[in-house]
Amino acid sequence: MRVEFLGGVRTVTGSATLLEKGSLKWLVDCGMFQGGKDLEERNWKLQPYQAEKLSFILLTHAHIDHSGLIPRLVKEGFRGKVICTKATLDLCEVMLQDSGHIQEMEAEWQNRKGKRAGKDEAIPLYTAEDAEKCLRYFEAVKYDEMLNLADGLKVRFRDAGHILGSAIIEIWIEESGEKKKMVFSGDLGNSDEPIIRDPSVVEEGDVLWLESTYGDRLHKTREETVEELLKIVQEAIARQAKVVIPAFAVERTQDIIYTLGQFIRKGSIPSVPVYIDSPLAISATEIFKKNSDCFDQETQNLLSGGENPLEIPGIIYTRTTEESKTINEAPGPGIIVSASGMCDSGRIQHHLKHHLWREESHIVIIGYQAEGTIGRRIVDGAKTVKLFGEEIAVKAHIHTLGGFSAHADQRGLLDWLSHVRNPQLEVFVNHGEEKISMKLGQLIGEQFHLKATVPEWREKTVLFGGVESVAPAKEVREEFPPGEPFSVLFSHLDRTYKRLRRKLRRKKKGEDVHDPGWLKQLGEVSKKLEELEKELE
Ligand SMILES: [Zn+2]
Ligand SMILES: [Zn+2]
Repeated sequence: MRVEFLGGVRTVTGSATLLEKGSLKWLVDCGMFQGGKDLEERNWKLQPYQAEKLSFILLTHAHIDHSGLIPRLVKEGFRGKVICTKATLDLCEVMLQDSGHIQEMEAEWQNRKGKRAGKDEAIPLYTAEDAEKCLRYFEAVKYDEMLNLADGLKVRFRDAGHILGSAIIEIWIEESGEKKKMVFSGDLGNSDEPIIRDPSVVEEGDVLWLESTYGDRLHKTREETVEELLKIVQEAIARQAKVVIPAFAVERTQDIIYTLGQFIRKGSIPSVPVYIDSPLAISATEIFKKNSDCFDQETQNLLSGGENPLEIPGIIYTRTTEESKTINEAPGPGIIVSASGMCDSGRIQHHLKHHLWREESHIVIIGYQAEGTIGRRIVDGAKTVKLFGEEIAVKAHIHTLGGFSAHADQRGLLDWLSHVRNPQLEVFVNHGEEKISMKLGQLIGEQFHLKATVPEWREKTVLFGGVESVAPAKEVREEFPPGEPFSVLFSHLDRTYKRLRRKLRRKKKGEDVHDPGWLKQLGEVSKKLEELEKELE
């Protein structure tokens, strides 16, 4: 069983793991990298994904950081099956096309800018049409159903409680007489998230991929968070001000609709305009209504009592740009829920441009803000942010409400892990920023005495079944690939160099980097490289 960590390691985006059993190859997730140029460049270098040779992609859920490269992979020759739950398929239908649309717009924008600078023409990673075409490879499966995908390969999707249709994937492998079970947690939800069910418990497994988005912190309870939001909304209404909530179109938006609906139904706030200003969020809300079999008991009860928790008085869905523009002209209080959730694209940017500089406005951040995004800069207390080429002052009240997260916090992750009863369990900590994954890995080692590794991007390892025994990821990483062509050696060298620079830079913050031992070693390496250069001349 061979594994290559293609994404979602030491970062939260680009989730993808390549698995190989004999000649059979498949991926678990195929997410897009987001959050800065360096990361996003990886979206264009998909050779290691071996698109043409893949038999299938097992997809945990519809979020773009898990599904966003599928259309591109189809362009590169993928003809296998994309296997996911029905709700994931429904969501992918709108989300991937929306993503294609964003890619097209971005390329267009680059070209407008680039032409003036005499640059080459930018092309989109994929178009909305490419995204639509890739849907024919999708195949929906049910939760908890055992699937026989190939000889010695069984798979089961379990509810991950993260977003509608999200799954934990269990994989049973039989290879060279050995039987093992791998588990991909996917993104794990909170147990008190409304609308959808709680994450399923997994009790058996030999190798586990565990997400770590919030592996270093504890969320406030849902009640506290809901109370905080209520106060913010009440204050804004009292001052006739607006509340802007950047929200991921799927799940966070529906969660906010659900919560605001509760406020209005209970009479805690008067009925004020609630704008859902994202065509994608509107479509996603429709998909929620169609997949009510994924709802938890509480929501099912509301529905059977004739109450739709996703409908509230005063809600205004704005699909067109014209409708969207009128929102900020409307006087009086209002709540604007718009995408993208990390403020990097979409209509939310217009609302931020309109409200960030106004002292009376409130910006409420409810979702994860990846490094390098505009949302992250706002959360980190930037005095100004650049929107549409203009520096906008940040004067509004900024609130971060962690309790609305669709991700389990540190306690939630460790609780979930504690159900797996195998003292030999091997854990790969993924889907988290480097130091957060490290922290969670360390905790897993201390509390459960399990082997927990934080893999590197593009690291390869052999898990079981082959002649090679379980190789700790770290050792494999340090191995220099022998007999490989120059291109491979160069990329290896490049990665090591970047890693070294990263580590040195981090060290620089706290300690003196002028360690004579290191300087000597680095000097020797650079001399060797110069010698090699001379030899080549
Ligand atoms: Zn997700
Ligand atoms: Zn994710």
